[in-house]
Amino acid sequence: MRFEVLTLFPEMIRDSFMTGITGRAAGRGLVELDTVNIRDYAVNDYGSVDDYTYGGGAGMLMMCEPVYSAFLEAKRRLGDEKTRVVFLTPSGRTFDEKTARELSGEKGLILLCGHYEGIDERVIDEIVTDPVSIGDYVLTGGELPALVVMDAVTRLIPGVLGNDDSSESESFNDGLLEYPQYTRPPLWHDREVPDILLSGDHKKIDQYRMRAARQKTKEVRPDLYEEYIKKRGIF
Ligand code: SAM
Repeated sequence: MRFEVLTLFPEMIRDSFMTGITGRAAGRGLVELDTVNIRDYAVNDYGSVDDYTYGGGAGMLMMCEPVYSAFLEAKRRLGDEKTRVVFLTPSGRTFDEKTARELSGEKGLILLCGHYEGIDERVIDEIVTDPVSIGDYVLTGGELPALVVMDAVTRLIPGVLGNDDSSESESFNDGLLEYPQYTRPPLWHDREVPDILLSGDHKKIDQYRMRAARQKTKEVRPDLYEEYIKKRGIF
């Protein structure tokens, strides 16, 4: 997987992505990261990439041409006509584990980060294939959302996690939240690890975990739980 990120803050993307598990994945060649600084394609010597909004309204809007030129540079580097272009925007489809899995199958992805009031709609219409939101709230820029998407996608790439099973047993993979987990010591602040987890009986442990995952999902995310039981025909 190769990420090409179109951004006004390449250092924010690089510093964060190159830290921890995603950074190690990049170091091992399992994923590549490249950034294109949209400001390198400013329309004048002052480095302008934004302008007032037609029709009035507060704030500035990123102009078409710098964004389009940055996109062409990313495409040239990727050398692939069909690369999907993910635009991080509050008005996109809400990002979830299913979308992360779908994107993790791509050879490369271009991620477009907005700033200010956003980006001129015409360039969005021309280049974006996947408008994606990370939730119903507004951030100052698309860099954190892009990092969220890249992190969720990267950890699904085979070999990135120490044990590939860990992404299989996690929340959302089978429509349920993950069961509660414990590590040593077995007793902490008068709170005990459930006996069954210390029993060594793996069949019983699996049954316990399934029950616990269903219980937790029912309590915390009744919307998910309802979908889960509908899909499986459980009443
Ligand atoms: N005026 C825009 C609106 O109301 O939808 C918000 C612009 S926001 C201040 C600036 C940029 O941050 C956006 O262009 C987008 O790239 C990013 N952004 C903000 N919130 C986001 C979210 N929830 N999901 C994805 N991207 C977001």
